[in-house]
Amino acid sequence: MIRNTRQREALMRVIRESSRPLTPPEIYELARVHYPKLGLRTVYRHIRDLLDSREIMGIDYPGQPVRYEVVDSRGSRPHLICRECRKVFDLPVEEPAIVYPKLQNFVIEGHEVIYFGRCRACVERAQREASVSDNASM
Ligand SMILES: [Zn+2]
Repeated sequence: MIRNTRQREALMRVIRESSRPLTPPEIYELARVHYPKLGLRTVYRHIRDLLDSREIMGIDYPGQPVRYEVVDSRGSRPHLICRECRKVFDLPVEEPAIVYPKLQNFVIEGHEVIYFGRCRACVERAQREASVSDNASM
């Protein structure tokens, strides 16, 4: 039971300290640094528990594996999706304010924002590859 609680806390720490929502295998890899004996099945079990207790939430975009992040008071945060590596990141700055239009036939209660682009790692890799091919053609 104590081991269970510690594992759960370790998983929560991994999810909380990440700058982006994580897939279960990513959570597993990061938590294994602290708990080498941790099993992937145990990670899935804790994820279910953490979802039940509403400590984490699933981020589920079409064509993407479900990722998990900590539920915070701001509700769902905007995400950045890299078109190349498909990783999902949290928007690291305050979300720009969105003014809802007043509609006759619909009451808007919320919204979800996804920004697409390329992450720094992919931009840098593209630049490296470009400079390699420049050198090769000389
Ligand atoms: Zn990327």
